[in-house]
Amino acid sequence: MQLYNRSITDSDRFWSEQAKSLLHWSRPFERVCQGNFADGDVAWFTGGTLNAAYNCVDRHLPHRAHQTALIYEGDELGEGYSLTYHQLHARVCRVANALLSMGVRRGDVVTLYMPTSPDLACAMLACARIGATHSVVFAGFSAGALRDRLAASGSRMLLTCDVGKRGGKTLELKKIVDEAVGGTDLVHHVGVFRRDPDAAQQRSEGWEESRDVDMNELLPRMRPYCAYVSMEAEDPLFILYTSGSTGKPKGLVHTTGGYLLQAAMTTKNTFDLKDGDVFGCVADVGWITGHTYCIYGPLLLGATSVLFESTPRYPHHGRYWDLIDRHRITQFYTSPTAIRTLMKFGTDKIKEYKLDSLRVLGSVGEPINPEAWTWYFKNVGHSRCTVVDTWWQTETGGHMMAPMPGMTPLKPGSCTLPVYGVQPALLDPLTGEEIEGDDVEGLLVVKRPWPGMARTIHGDHHRYMDVYFNSYRGYYATGDGARRDENGYYWITGRVDDVVNVAGHRIGTAEVESSLASHDGVSEAAVVGFPDPSKGQGLCCYVTLNMGTPSTPEFIAELKAQVRRDIGPFATPDVIVITPDLPKTRSGKIMRRILRKLAEGEPSALGDTSTLADPSVVERLVATQFWVK
Ligand code: ATP
Ligand code: MG
Repeated sequence: MQLYNRSITDSDRFWSEQAKSLLHWSRPFERVCQGNFADGDVAWFTGGTLNAAYNCVDRHLPHRAHQTALIYEGDELGEGYSLTYHQLHARVCRVANALLSMGVRRGDVVTLYMPTSPDLACAMLACARIGATHSVVFAGFSAGALRDRLAASGSRMLLTCDVGKRGGKTLELKKIVDEAVGGTDLVHHVGVFRRDPDAAQQRSEGWEESRDVDMNELLPRMRPYCAYVSMEAEDPLFILYTSGSTGKPKGLVHTTGGYLLQAAMTTKNTFDLKDGDVFGCVADVGWITGHTYCIYGPLLLGATSVLFESTPRYPHHGRYWDLIDRHRITQFYTSPTAIRTLMKFGTDKIKEYKLDSLRVLGSVGEPINPEAWTWYFKNVGHSRCTVVDTWWQTETGGHMMAPMPGMTPLKPGSCTLPVYGVQPALLDPLTGEEIEGDDVEGLLVVKRPWPGMARTIHGDHHRYMDVYFNSYRGYYATGDGARRDENGYYWITGRVDDVVNVAGHRIGTAEVESSLASHDGVSEAAVVGFPDPSKGQGLCCYVTLNMGTPSTPEFIAELKAQVRRDIGPFATPDVIVITPDLPKTRSGKIMRRILRKLAEGEPSALGDTSTLADPSVVERLVATQFWVK
């Protein structure tokens, strides 16, 4: 607590100390922080130079050359390999030299359309080593979505793999790339990592000699050493697109100095990372969670990081537990969606594995309902691990609110308190005034700059200002709502856009969803508002059921009664729609804006659906014509 207070009252000194102790600077910085939210010109550690790859790899070589840096687990159980820091260094250098040989220079944007794998990690670090900006596009996106992102980022170089493998399915990544860039002059080169060394003939189909480069052939010819470039602290490290839960994805730009510091500090504090730990973040590297907590955070700290390419249910729903057991994972980091999916299957499978290596269990991506939190704590953590619910965003670079193991008392369902240096506040949505005191609810904003904040939306600084800074001057608007309870703890109530106003009562969708999901028969719930002539808005609840639960009228009445009991009669659901699946983004978040359109009876006005993981879920919902007119 003392250190938190100092991080606010003596912020420059605090961050200066952190920056010096957690990062290696080629040239020391002159100023800690300058600029402000209202002008959109925040800058950190100016005058300082550093290199991200040096910080993640080279500086560990004297002590950790033979320690495992990355453990890769592919799609099939047990398939994969590990790399030591020494091996990682050589691979990163080879890829860096390959990029240089293809004409990539400092400041260029390189798009990485690759599955979670050491090749992707090396590609990211290789870009960083030579001062190129990486733009990872999640390797589940369609050709159109890839083309849009390539064009928007002005990227002339693309790295990909021949195929990706997920859940037993093969994704023809190179073919998708051909479709995305064929007949355009978007990219000069496509570097292809071949996963299947025997499949050289694959090169024939769609292979363009002038454009495509076989990385498996090129890399062995490259030197295993490449000099690194000292970058200004404010030079971009990467561009990354948001999940697109609330609209068209935003390509956020993160910097070298500030982002790396946020990544290192939060990985260390939130996960209590110690020497010898095996850090298991099972997010896809294509999202910010994978960037910060699979790659940059753990490697900055010299830890061993697990890269997991598969899904929680392949080949069976014990996959995570098997992963933890086999690799002796100490910190495990996943999403509420994954936890809720696995809860459906009960706990038999968990009991087959040894999970005693675990110390910290993390959750990110959506509010975690207390029911899922408790299940995770009891059954995965055997009631002895800390559950850290981490609230943050692509925009924030790293955790903004999260408990610290052994220090912050936990409350199931709360992301607890802000991390060092972060000063949150709640605003009244109408007046824009700060709401003081505890036991209050409002728009969640941040009051002061932090090092890991995104500096702009690539190519659209206006949108950056509009989305985050212009509605409430002097604050960073998160777009999320939150409640601060009687102990000053924060509870995310959902997206601000998702707050429903029923007869004058403002209801956060997360609260109703949590109540529904606490019923034994319910797996997941998504709640949206729809226009109601008498109440203003009514509540429409989409619910997925656990295996074996009958969807009878009695059951639906029971659910309504449960919400009435938990929250109050004013929050009684008007409509409950039982559905086998909910529409989710490719990063696993429920897309309530689509459900809202359906509930409003506007299935033809769904907006940008490019980030929808499985369009058939929406098609099925539309076909049932379940919307409320
Ligand atoms: P877009 O900005 O394109 O709509 P997105 O907001 O889903 O997409 P991300 O940056 O991946 O993109 O997600 C950040 C959001 O995820 C947060 O604003 C918040 O709504 C939600 N979130 C993340 N972690 C938590 C958490 N621990 N508790 C509650 N909500 C969370
Ligand atoms: Mg967002």
